Amino acid sequence: VAPLLAVRDLSKIFPIRRGIFGGTAGQVHAVDGVSFEMAAGETLGLVGESGCGKSTAGRLLLRLIEPSGGQVRFHGAEITGLDAGAILPVRRRMQMIHQDPYASLNPRMQAGEIVGEPLVIHGMGDKAARQARVAQLFERVGLRPDQQRSYAHEFSGGQRQRLGIARALALGPELIVCDEPVSALDVSIRAQILNLLMDLQDEFGFAYLFVSHDLAVVEHISHRVAVMYLGRIVELTDKTTLFEEPLHPYTEALLAAVPVPKVTGRRRTRKPLQGDVPSPINRPSGCHFHPRCAYVHAPCHTREPVLREVTPGHLVACHLHDAGPRLPLARQT
Ligand code: SF4
Ligand code: MG
Repeated sequence: VAPLLAVRDLSKIFPIRRGIFGGTAGQVHAVDGVSFEMAAGETLGLVGESGCGKSTAGRLLLRLIEPSGGQVRFHGAEITGLDAGAILPVRRRMQMIHQDPYASLNPRMQAGEIVGEPLVIHGMGDKAARQARVAQLFERVGLRPDQQRSYAHEFSGGQRQRLGIARALALGPELIVCDEPVSALDVSIRAQILNLLMDLQDEFGFAYLFVSHDLAVVEHISHRVAVMYLGRIVELTDKTTLFEEPLHPYTEALLAAVPVPKVTGRRRTRKPLQGDVPSPINRPSGCHFHPRCAYVHAPCHTREPVLREVTPGHLVACHLHDAGPRLPLARQT
């Protein structure tokens, strides 16, 4: 059976222009050879520091921006080369939930129209059927029926995100890319929205690609997690393994920065992240992480590590694991 989504060697290069007279000053490899698969109904968390390319990767999947290279297959069919007409039926099955619902909602449309608009664009049902669907969606995301006539500015942040979710659900998608969907919300509201997203997945069975810099949020919602650094996936495995027994030094360092209330002995020994993210225009040689890595050794300066499966379902790009599986880092000492 083909996976829901198969991404192969996906890349996006942005040129950097020099001043107002143009001329190319360099390139940013925002996404650099990213490969992964997703199964129907799963949540894949995509984490990393700001600027690592995780949002760009999410937008590439939906063809909101054009890739510089690589392939995206949806149910086994390549969608990378499809023209605007041919991509439309695929788009119906892939939706997006944005970080800032206010910026993504039309301020001049009533909330009911905002949620029903995808049905109009895709010619789904007659007017009565669309109204019934909108009413059902409002109820399902926890909005009142009378709020259909309100405008986006009349909603609180959490209610706006409910509106964005209802709109994303309208066409019955199979995959939803969520880009930092709770990062702009008050802490008190975050759990409500996350739990709503999880309940909706249980009910409708769609998959989420969940893009976030917030490890606690990703741990709450994900089944598997991919960690990105400077445009590349450096580790990918199931959530429990990633959080309990990371194999990549960058993952270990990210986790060291997260306060853990129930501290296990292992987590205390984690080596924290040093230094800042290097410029993506001028990435370090060899392993891009080597200037910040507590485990750097000779090959790291010159050879770029390849993402490989070191134990079933656990992929790591690090020379420490080139010769096969090793103990989780924190157990090596
Ligand atoms: Fe560190 Fe080397 Fe592994 Fe890169 S390849 S993460 S520098 S040990
Ligand atoms: Mg982002």
